[in-house]
Amino acid sequence: MIIEPKVRGFICTTAHPAGCAQNVKNQIAFVKGKGEFKGPKKVLVLGASTGYGLSSRIAAAFGSRAATIGVGFEKPASGSRTASAGWYNTAAFEQEAQKEGLYAKTLIGDAFSQEMKEKVIDLIRSGLGKVDFVVYSIAAPRRTAPDGNTYSSVLKPIGRAYSDKTIDLKTRAIVPVSVQPASEQEIHDTIKVMGGEDWALWMDALANAGVLEQNARTVAYSYIGPEVTYPLYRSGTIGMAKEDLEATAKKISERLAGISGSAYVSVNKALVTQSSAAIPVVPLYITLLFRLMKEKGIHEDCIAQMDRLFREKLFNLENMPVLDGEGRLRVDDWELRPEIQREIEKNWPAVCTENLEELADIKGYWKDFYNLFGFEVDGVDYSADISPEMAIPSVN
Ligand code: NAD
Repeated sequence: MIIEPKVRGFICTTAHPAGCAQNVKNQIAFVKGKGEFKGPKKVLVLGASTGYGLSSRIAAAFGSRAATIGVGFEKPASGSRTASAGWYNTAAFEQEAQKEGLYAKTLIGDAFSQEMKEKVIDLIRSGLGKVDFVVYSIAAPRRTAPDGNTYSSVLKPIGRAYSDKTIDLKTRAIVPVSVQPASEQEIHDTIKVMGGEDWALWMDALANAGVLEQNARTVAYSYIGPEVTYPLYRSGTIGMAKEDLEATAKKISERLAGISGSAYVSVNKALVTQSSAAIPVVPLYITLLFRLMKEKGIHEDCIAQMDRLFREKLFNLENMPVLDGEGRLRVDDWELRPEIQREIEKNWPAVCTENLEELADIKGYWKDFYNLFGFEVDGVDYSADISPEMAIPSVN
């Protein structure tokens, strides 16, 4: 069949297998182009199918020749319905890994569940013995916790309503946005979903099962961003969850002291992913940011970020993580450069529908958005007939 994009709000309900496969190949080529680095060898990636998690898996496998186990929440094709993009990404990743003799297995399902933790531990035992690095890159709208309750996350300010402007990406117009403050319950529930609790449960489960190597490391991802988005991001409900995640890193490090293990949070750059597209105001900031970073030649995508994180910050030549004053890894350093943020502060109040094309990289945003689902990828023939079926080799 011919597969075309069907965009509904923040997501695209179709995905293109050949386009997703090409994206994965491009990411692999990027990492291989930089040469090998001395990094982890047996890696578990939670949230491995898209965005930062997928790029982490690729950087570890093709930069450090690591065996990888990935976990993702994805759907296979069914009838004429395509699979999700993360499904195709994972199928392509495993195929490329196999070609190079790299161990790669994937479990599809709910990473928040106890059942998945047990399955992963069994797979580590049978396939790798132990792991030396765990990436926690889950971004989810809801979580069923061990208490049996299902919690939902919200993207809201705290304390008072927030009014500013955002971009309507469809009409390319700047429109007002107003978000009411979160209730105490919503703050609590967002921390339950996007805070550190599940990361700590994973690390406890892996440690108790004895499947972590001596000196094992783990990393989870956070975001800070510019002051203009603080009310909705860093000082909002998601920011509270990120603070909880950062505090959890310290607790996990203490618990892993017996094996000299350590847990880190890396603060990453704002990028177009399935998760960030859903955050109000952030897409407008991203379009302004990309324009400036591209102009200055310092724009990075997910794979460039994860490659730099592993190669230069976490597994650098000295094998000494490069941390900020609060113990965090920072690959948002280029985004937060004063010369970039000064321009953002100047452009933010000035940007309107009329000067949008001049100040913001709308074209780049849309290309990235379509690319997430395997569309508009250079070199792919979208007029060719293609089957939506694509097997992930390790998944039945
Ligand atoms: P993403 O939506 O691209 O990826 C999320 C991953 O989580 C996918 O692999 C998905 O399958 C998986 N997942 C979701 N629910 C799951 C479940 N219940 N069980 C198993 N897997 C599940 O998101 P992303 O933007 O790459 O986000 C990853 C992390 O990076 C998040 O913590 C996010 O806050 C952080 N981050 C993102 C940005 C950004 O701009 N996108 C910036 C800094 C930090």
